[in-house]
Amino acid sequence: MGALNSNDHLYDVVVVGAGPVGLATAAGLRSRGITNIAVLERARSFRQVGQVLDILPNGLRALKYLDPQAHQVILEPTAPAGPPRPAPQWFYRDLQGQAIRSVSMDSEDWLQKYGESRNSLSWFNVQTRLRELVPQEDIWINHRCVDLREAAGYVEVDCVSNATEEQNPYAHWTAPVPDGANSETPETFEEKKLRAKLVIAADGINSTVRQWLYSEESYSNQAKPAYSGFAAFLCMDVGELPEALWAELAEQYFQGQPVVTVCQNAESQDEVVSLEETTGRSRIMMFRRGKSCGYIVHTPISLDALQGTSGAASTALAIQQLEQAGFPDCIKQFVRLAPPERFTQRPYHMHRAESEGETAAWSSGRVVLVGDAAHGMPPFLAQGVNQGFEDAATVVAAIERIQRRGQWGDEGAIASLFQQYEQLRRPVMARVQKLTLTEKARWSDRQSEDYNQWVFGRDLAQELAAL
Ligand SMILES: Cc1cc2nc3c(=O)[nH]c(=O)nc-3n(C[C@H](O)[C@H](O)[C@H](O)COP(=O)(O)OP(=O)(O)OC[C@H]3O[C@@H](n4cnc5c(N)ncnc54)[C@H](O)[C@@H]3O)c2cc1C
Repeated sequence: MGALNSNDHLYDVVVVGAGPVGLATAAGLRSRGITNIAVLERARSFRQVGQVLDILPNGLRALKYLDPQAHQVILEPTAPAGPPRPAPQWFYRDLQGQAIRSVSMDSEDWLQKYGESRNSLSWFNVQTRLRELVPQEDIWINHRCVDLREAAGYVEVDCVSNATEEQNPYAHWTAPVPDGANSETPETFEEKKLRAKLVIAADGINSTVRQWLYSEESYSNQAKPAYSGFAAFLCMDVGELPEALWAELAEQYFQGQPVVTVCQNAESQDEVVSLEETTGRSRIMMFRRGKSCGYIVHTPISLDALQGTSGAASTALAIQQLEQAGFPDCIKQFVRLAPPERFTQRPYHMHRAESEGETAAWSSGRVVLVGDAAHGMPPFLAQGVNQGFEDAATVVAAIERIQRRGQWGDEGAIASLFQQYEQLRRPVMARVQKLTLTEKARWSDRQSEDYNQWVFGRDLAQELAAL
């Protein structure tokens, strides 16, 4: 049953998705006096979900540009949920336990090196803190955008309000829905139409707006995310390990730290290859919290091998991957100890910023994609949300110009600014995505530092002045 509830108000901007990127965008617009906005969120309530996000200097710099208060709230310290954070160094070790590299986790070090620090917060905490900056009445929960229509001078946005609880309202936790299986419209719902001069799609990797934007035959293969070639196998709580196993892991790998990443052996540092030439291999992050331990295995694997496996068969697949990569018995034994009901596998999907053939644009007319909706990717370099904040800053800079020049009615000017947004952001994303899929353990110290300077040291405000 559907009831139509039409809202005749014409918004300057409708943001679809109250995740980190949508809310940061809304905060940035408000801080520039653009307050005639609505943020649509399909979740029926804000719930404690999501993984830990590392907010890094480039993301913080973007937040500062958007709204100094956003920068401030995100920097406030709290103990993050999830695996414990190593302090003060996060070690990457080879299969024999030799240190390959370590990363400082001390925010002061980051501040000194890159002019901005870092913080680790759960997705829910990031969302909660950014929500503080947007009036509650501007965030419309239980409004799932289902369709859009272009009209003269505005875009019409169709939403449904759901009367039944959704299982997985957070896009980054779900694999894409296979074709023909998208029967999400509930039996009891209310329809609503909104009108907006601009629509910013921040609705995550399974973006509805992206599917609308790429509905033409020639782009339909880019509408939904594609498998990245990598998956995670994880168990956040294996329980207490047998004493002898713990003693072996502690002595060889943990070496006094609560977290360690073990990777396949790095080749000699003399054999320096270009960063893009290396393809990521299997690695495991192991952590200990109190007496319990957990792990996340990241591994290249075909989607065919993953499909249809769960429980004990999935654990066996993870062990097989580690076996093939030469991981020692103690690590395989640790992985095997995970209780099947606490063991999860997660294929990582992505929207490639660069691909063979014609790439579909991130905007059309008055509608533009940001964050994971534009370029979702695996989290190996912890850049997803940070790059999303850079998108938000760039799009807000573009809209600020539209506002200043009174160009809300000028579709040519809007299209041109959204193209400039993409020209600034797409090459950065293409490089970040390429590097995300490489073998970080094989980067030389020099290559690592070059990457850090490139991604963390950029002067965003100066880049945006060129818009
Ligand atoms: C395991 C893991 C670890 C990660 N670690 C890091 C990290 O350390 N650092 C980092 O930078 N990134 C990390 N990421 C990536 C990061 O989570 C994403 O890049 C980030 O959440 C993207 O933000 P977003 O706002 O674009 O999309 P999302 O976070 O997916 O938010 C989208 C929002 O839109 C809503 N929505 C969806 N569809 C609709 C619709 N049709 N109508 C209305 N609302 C809708 C959703 O409910 C959600 O609230 C990680 C990801 C994973 C899976």
